[in-house]
Amino acid sequence: MIAEVKKLIMNSKKLVVLTGAGFSAESGIPTYRGTGGLWSKYDPSVYADINHFMRDSSYYWNFFRDERYPMIKKAKPNSAHIALVELYKRGKLFRLITQNIDGLHQLAGIPHVIELHGTTRSFRCMRCDNRFSMEEVHEKILDDFPPKCSCNGSLRPNTVMFGESLPQHALEESMLAAKKCDVFLVLGSSLVVYPAAYLPCIAKENNAHVVIVNIDPTPFDKQADAVLYKKASMFLEQLLL
Ligand SMILES: [Zn+2]
Repeated sequence: MIAEVKKLIMNSKKLVVLTGAGFSAESGIPTYRGTGGLWSKYDPSVYADINHFMRDSSYYWNFFRDERYPMIKKAKPNSAHIALVELYKRGKLFRLITQNIDGLHQLAGIPHVIELHGTTRSFRCMRCDNRFSMEEVHEKILDDFPPKCSCNGSLRPNTVMFGESLPQHALEESMLAAKKCDVFLVLGSSLVVYPAAYLPCIAKENNAHVVIVNIDPTPFDKQADAVLYKKASMFLEQLLL
C-alpha cells in the first residue's frame, strides 16, 4: 500500500494536504475530542463559544493565560512538520490547508498556509481592528484583565470559535484547492468537523485521488482511494525515503 501511495503522491502535479489535530499532537498539543482531549477538561460551550465570550470573556482569558499560551509557546514543529517542509521544498506541495490554530507549519518554514480555523498567535480589537501578537496580549493580561486595546475596545483571538462561521477567504481558497488538486492527502484529521470534512468530497467529485493517513478511522475512509492507519510523522518519513 505505501509503495502505491508513494507513487501516487510523487507523481502528482497538484498535491493538496489537509492537516488536523493529530498532526500537532506530537508537538505536545493535545487533540480536542475524546478521552484526555482538551474539551474533556474545558467545556467548549464556556471556553470557546462566541456567545459565551461576548457575555463573559474571563473564562477564555484565564484559559489562554494558564493553558493555551504556555502550551503554544513551548510547542515546536515535530518531524511531520519538518517532513512537509521537505515536500514543499521539492515543489510537491500545491496547497496546505490546516484545521490547526498553532501556527507550527509557518514556524517550520511553509510561508502560505490556509488556516481554516484561524490562528491563536494573533488577536484583534473588536472596535478598531488593531492587531496584537500572542505575546503582547499575554503581557497585557498580567495588569489589564480582560485585556483592552488603547482605544478601550475589547480584544478577541483570531481563532474561529463555536457559533462562528469560518473566514470566507480561507474557506474559498480551500475549496478551490480541493477542486484543482489531483491528489488530496489528509494527515492527522479525523474528518468530523465541517466544512473541513467536506473538502475530500469536493476533491473526489473533481476526480482527484484521496489518501487518508490517521491513527483512527474517519467517516470518509470508504470513499478514499487509500487509507493508512498511522501517525503522520511515520507516514511522511516513509514517503520521503
Ligand atoms: Zn482598538
